[in-house]
Amino acid sequence: MNIRHINEQVIYDAVYEAIKHITYHPDPAVEPLLRDALDNECDELRQDVLCSLINNIELSPDSSTPLCQDTGTLVVFAKIGNRCVIDGKPLETIINYALRMASSDLYLRASIVRDPLFNRTNTSDNSPSIVHTRIVEGSKIILKIAQKGGGAENMSNLRMMLPTCNRQDIIDFILETVVEAGAKACPPLVLGIGIGGNYEQCALLAKEALLSPIGTRSSNSDYAQLEQDILMQVNNTGVGAQGMGGNLTALDVHILHAPCHIASLPVAVNIQCHAHRHIELEI
Ligand code: SF4
Repeated sequence: MNIRHINEQVIYDAVYEAIKHITYHPDPAVEPLLRDALDNECDELRQDVLCSLINNIELSPDSSTPLCQDTGTLVVFAKIGNRCVIDGKPLETIINYALRMASSDLYLRASIVRDPLFNRTNTSDNSPSIVHTRIVEGSKIILKIAQKGGGAENMSNLRMMLPTCNRQDIIDFILETVVEAGAKACPPLVLGIGIGGNYEQCALLAKEALLSPIGTRSSNSDYAQLEQDILMQVNNTGVGAQGMGGNLTALDVHILHAPCHIASLPVAVNIQCHAHRHIELEI
C-alpha cells in the first residue's frame, strides 16, 4: 500500500488561507439571493435591510473588515484518508495553530472562553477549534471549515421525536424553531437538519448539513423534496431578513440523514445566519 506523506506546513498554510478567505466571504450564493430578494421587495424598510446586507458583503474584503464582528467558533469536519500520514504535529494542533495566527494577523474578535461555567475568561486567540475527524478510504485530507457565529448557534434545537411522528410533524418542529429564533439568529438563515442516528449523531448531521453549498440538494429524492418543502414553508413564516418581515427567512435548507433505533426519530436543526462562512479544502 502506497502511503502519502503530507507535511504539516501544507495543512497549516491551507487552513490559514481558508480562515482568511471565509472571514471576508460568505457562501458565494448568498449575495445573488439577497439581490434577487431586493429586486422583488416593495417595502422600503426591508429594501434598506437587504441593501445593508449586500453592502456589507461588498465592503468586507475591500476594507479587510470581517463580514461579521462575531467570527465565531471554528468548526472543522476532517476526512482523513487511510493512506496518508501527516509529517509533524497532529491535525488538531495544526488547525489550532493556524487559527491562533489568523486571529492575531486579521485582528479577529476573541470569542472563546476557557470554561462555560466556572471560568469564563477569554482564551484571547479564538482557540480551541472544534474538530470532528473521520478516517476514510484514500490518500487525501478533506477539510470542511466554518466560522460559526454564536447568535444563530444559540437558537438551534434538537428534539427526540417519537417514531410515530410523520413528515409534517418534523416540518412543524423546524418552523417552530425558526419562528422562536426570529431576529435573534440574524436571518436570512441557512438551516442544517439532521434526521436519524442518535442524540449526538443527529446534532453532528445537522452541523455537517450546513456545510453543503447553497443551492445543492440531497442525493436522496425524498429528502431533496423535503428540503424544498421546508424552505418554502420557512419562507412563508414571515420572519424575513433581520426579522423585518417579508419572504426571505431562509436562503437554503440542507438535510443529512442516518439509520436510527426502532424507538427513535431524532431531529436536529442547526441554524446558521446570513454570514454563512464556510469552505471545503482538499489536500
Ligand atoms: S448570528 Fe451571524 S450575523 Fe448575527 S452576530 Fe452572530 S455571526 Fe454575526
